[in-house]
Amino acid sequence: MTASTGQIIRSHGRRFIVEADGRVYDCTTRGKRVDYACGDHVDILIQNQEQAVIERAHERRSLLYRQDDWKTKVIAANVSRILFVVAAVPSPNEELLGRCLIAAEAGDIEPVIVVNKSDLPETAALLNKLQLYADLGYRLLTLSAKQDFSPLRPLLSGHTSVLVGQSGMGKSTLTNALLPDANARIGDISTALDSGRHTTTHATLYHLDADSHLIDSPGLQEFGLKHLQASDLIRYFPEMRQYIGQCRFHNCSHCVEPNCAIMAAAEKGGIARHRLNLLQRLTQELAPARL
Ligand code: GDP
Ligand code: ZN
Repeated sequence: MTASTGQIIRSHGRRFIVEADGRVYDCTTRGKRVDYACGDHVDILIQNQEQAVIERAHERRSLLYRQDDWKTKVIAANVSRILFVVAAVPSPNEELLGRCLIAAEAGDIEPVIVVNKSDLPETAALLNKLQLYADLGYRLLTLSAKQDFSPLRPLLSGHTSVLVGQSGMGKSTLTNALLPDANARIGDISTALDSGRHTTTHATLYHLDADSHLIDSPGLQEFGLKHLQASDLIRYFPEMRQYIGQCRFHNCSHCVEPNCAIMAAAEKGGIARHRLNLLQRLTQELAPARL
């Protein structure tokens, strides 16, 4: 058996495909470990030309979680860019955007809001609504995946990116444009992995070029935020950071307490009402017992 180092390019339950030295290996893990994720750099022990065992993962630059009522699961490691795809039609869910930005802030991953379907006349109203996020410092890119997806290219360069967003916004259209031969390749890997079993949530890493990669994962359309601490939440809202430590109670939930600096700022219009509502909903989700 030979030791080597590679990267997980597909995860699927307890099975992982690792790319190492220009080959791909169908890998199992030691014991029952499943806390590896697509994008992880790993040490492997090669058993034969097709199989290997994952020994350990290297330190991660970032980690994204999948939302699950029962358990939090890691789904993508070492992502450096989140592209949140949104469009005027079908009607976008702003809560999902808010949650995505929090996952990005918490994971120290740079988000970009990609406004797709710029060819539709309804886009102008959406852009007005999204101005708030531009004012908060988030990057916005407007394009039409159907007409020209090339404005996206420079944002992917040098990054490991994920495309997320609610269904119907154009993620598949963008993914297919970026990875014209992905379907063929995914077919190969899937046959090796699926072997008759039902496909659960998985993630696949594709190389766009030598140092730009795209992780495609249907499970990432909603973010796991359950690993976050309620008391840390206001750090992840750029417009709220300045009020850290200014509430009367150090453990303020910003929901009901007197002299809450966050609620006062919202009252004065310095914090958008729906952003305060998002903070309050998340606080209750993460620490329901306190209220
Ligand atoms: P996904 O669910 O996010 O993967 O979205 P899809 O890529 O499947 O796209 C949903 C629908 O939007 C499809 O009918 C696409 O043809 C359409 N669509 C995607 N991009 C554009 C665009 O730039 N302009 C318009 N008008 N429609 C688009
Ligand atoms: Zn408060």
